[in-house]
This record gives sequence, C-alpha cells and structure tokens, in this order.
Amino acid sequence: MTEQADFVVVGLGAMGSAVLYQLAKRGADVIGVDRFAPPHQMGSSHGETRITRQAVGEGGAYAPLVLSSHRIWRELEGDTGERLLSDCGVLVMGPGTGSTSHHGKPDFVARSIEVARGFGIVHEVLDGAEVARRFPQFLGLAGNEKAYYEPDGGYVFPERCIKAQLMRAAQLGAQVRTGLEVRSISQQGSVRIETSDGTIEAGQVVVSAGSWTAPLLGAPFDRLLTVNRQVLHWYELDDLTAYGPNAPAFIWMHGATDVDYFYGFPPLPGDHRVKVATEQYETRTTADTINREVDPVESEAMYRKHVQGRLAGAKPRVAHAAACLYTVTPDRGFIIDHHPRHDRVFVISACSGHGFKHSAGIGDVVAERLTEGHNQVDLTAFSIARFA
Ligand SMILES: Cc1cc2nc3c(=O)[nH]c(=O)nc-3n(C[C@H](O)[C@H](O)[C@H](O)COP(=O)(O)OP(=O)(O)OC[C@H]3O[C@@H](n4cnc5c(N)ncnc54)[C@H](O)[C@@H]3O)c2cc1C
Repeated sequence: MTEQADFVVVGLGAMGSAVLYQLAKRGADVIGVDRFAPPHQMGSSHGETRITRQAVGEGGAYAPLVLSSHRIWRELEGDTGERLLSDCGVLVMGPGTGSTSHHGKPDFVARSIEVARGFGIVHEVLDGAEVARRFPQFLGLAGNEKAYYEPDGGYVFPERCIKAQLMRAAQLGAQVRTGLEVRSISQQGSVRIETSDGTIEAGQVVVSAGSWTAPLLGAPFDRLLTVNRQVLHWYELDDLTAYGPNAPAFIWMHGATDVDYFYGFPPLPGDHRVKVATEQYETRTTADTINREVDPVESEAMYRKHVQGRLAGAKPRVAHAAACLYTVTPDRGFIIDHHPRHDRVFVISACSGHGFKHSAGIGDVVAERLTEGHNQVDLTAFSIARFA
C-alpha cells in the first residue's frame, strides 16, 4: 500500500525537526521520517551544546535566520518548560595584528562587528586586556587582541531543541516515523519516496538528511557536498572559580590561519568539564564510514596546540570525546533551495559546520515557502545556482 501525504520531511535532525514543527504549526498534513531515532549520535547534531551568535561574521544574509531561531527557541521553552538557549554571552576574539579568517570569511571579528551594527545587535568591542579583566577563564592574552562580545549570544542545547520540536510537531498532528530509511526519491508529478518499509507519495518533500544528502540525492550534491570528521573534547577542570555565571562561549583565533583557532563553552551548570573543539577541512570521510572512535592521541594534540595555557583550570585529563560530521559546500555557506531538477523537492544542506544556530529559523522560512509560495527572509544567498 502506498501512503499519501502533502509533505514529507526526510531526516529529522536539526533542520528536519525544525521544518516538521513549523509545517505542523501551519496545520499541514506532514510525515517526518528518520533512519535513526533523533536526537542521536550518528549525524551532526550531538554533543550537548552549539554556539549561537546573532551577529554572524559569515555574513548579514544569515542574521534574520538566527534572530528568528532565538525567538522560536524562547517560544518552545515556554511550550515545553525545557531550557534550550543559554544567553551566557559569546566572545569572538582574534589576534592584535593581522586579520584572521574563519569559516572561509576574512577578518571574522571585523565582519561580526559590521553585522552587529547593521542589525542593531547589542555588542561591545573589547581588547585583550579588557577581556582578561572581565573573563578570567582566558589566559595568556597579549592585551592587544581584538574581540567582539555579544551578551545575548551563548549556546543552545541541540539534542533538547530537536526533541522539543519533534514533540511539538507530533502534538500538532505531524506523523513522526523513526527507524525508517528513505532509499530513493523520484518525482513524476508527485514525489515517490521508497523507504525500507513501503512507499510514500507526497506533494512536496524536504530533504534534510545532513551528511547523507549526497548519497541519497546524487548529482549535483555529490559534487558540492564534502563531509569532514570533527572531534569534540571535554577536559576536566580542577578549579571553577574563573567560570562565573557570565563566562561566555567563545571562538578564539590565536594565530594567522584558519586552523589556528579553537572554540569552546563554559562548564554546564553543575559540571566540572570544559568542552572545546577546532575544525579540519583536509581529511574527507562519509557518514557511513567515519571513524566514530576518538584516539586519546587526538585529545592530547588538541590540548597541547590550543587549550594549554589558554583556559583557566583546564587539565589534560579527557573526560569525554566524540566525533561529529561537518557537511561543507565549496564556499562553506548553506544550500536552502529547490532541487535543480525536481521542483517538488526542497533541499537543506547540513550547513557547513555553522548551521545549528540558524536551524529553527530555517525551519520557519522553509515551511512558509512551501505552504505559502513565498518567504519573508531572502534565501538568495543560499541558492544552489551560485555553484553553477
Ligand atoms: C562538532 C560540530 C560542532 C558544531 N558547532 C556548531 C556551533 O557551535 N554552532 C552552530 O550553529 N553550528 C554548529 N555545528 C553545525 C550544526 O550542528 C549542523 O549544521 C547541524 O546540526 C546540521 O543538522 P542537520 O539537520 O543538517 O543534520 P543532522 O542533525 O545530522 O540530521 C540529519 C538526519 O537525517 C537522517 N537521515 C539521513 N539519511 C536518511 C535517510 N536516507 N532516510 C531517513 N533519514 C535519514 C539522519 O538519521 C539524521 O537524523 C557543528 C557541527 C558539528 C559536527
């Protein structure tokens, strides 16, 4: 028997759970499908926390998405009683001389300041000396560092956000199918979705399959999307005194190149660990072949290169580590667009390692586009045509 639905959302991680919730809120007839049971550890949305910055140095086109996400998470907190967003503040810091790029964008600190000014986002511009005075968690500062501080930024809890959106979607009438793998998607009039347990015919489909997008859809996504393994490390803190209630999440570019940097989070309430990570774009993997084990040698190298002498109280003892997946486009931006050959298939790429903060807003704008045929937020910057 072939099931029918107006909309099917394939993949219920950060992006898919957001779209499903927003479609259900609009009263749509929608089925959400995931091969696992989100939130889970197999994709790009695990590891307790994700940084959120409202003034995104990646560019002004992103700002409406993250601003909308913050509104939606607060609304969901009200609906569910779950804490989703911590506005502990966020600091983006670069060296005193030179301009360091990040996520493929030059002079990331200056770009963050420019976006904050353009969108009226509350912020301060600090030097390293002021950072050291206000935030004793950071050590070894020269004093002339350039920093962007956003008091309303901070971090979100990704697993809780996904869970809350799936729960609300189900309460609002969406069908949530977990443990169901989509094997193929084809469009001939309506869209036919072959799954590991039957066929679904849909008016429109949203593919938000994260790192599995290229294997599922093939060309041109196999040419455009690269998957990189990333590692999160939690180091034990032997002293929490430097981490008061206003200790911010941070992105710290301490050298001249894209890889001389790490980011991290203050310890969660009641915790005595600091979570940090850096990024790598050299070694490719796939969602099915990634090495999910983290060798202690990787955590030792991370500590020596980035953490040692920079974070107060952080010891080389690794409390936990996890591997995660970035799915990256050639310009490290997003794809939020119709499939170039199938106008009833809408694709949201896994968003190049900086997507979580935008996910709730992306869900809203995509649901608006699919149900109303237009969208208030301009998605031109995320079109697939830019790679033609
Ligand atoms: C280590 C790390 C740190 C990050 N830090 C930040 C940060 O600080 N701030 C920030 O904003 N962003 C950050 N990001 C990026 C952000 O987490 C991702 O952009 C986002 O989580 C991607 O969500 P997604 O929904 O595309 O993918 P996922 O959450 O992986 O969801 C994809 C889903 O699709 C399902 N699926 C796949 N194929 C199929 C199929 N064939 N059939 C059925 N289901 C399928 C999967 O099971 C999965 O549940 C980080 C990412 C990583 C990995």
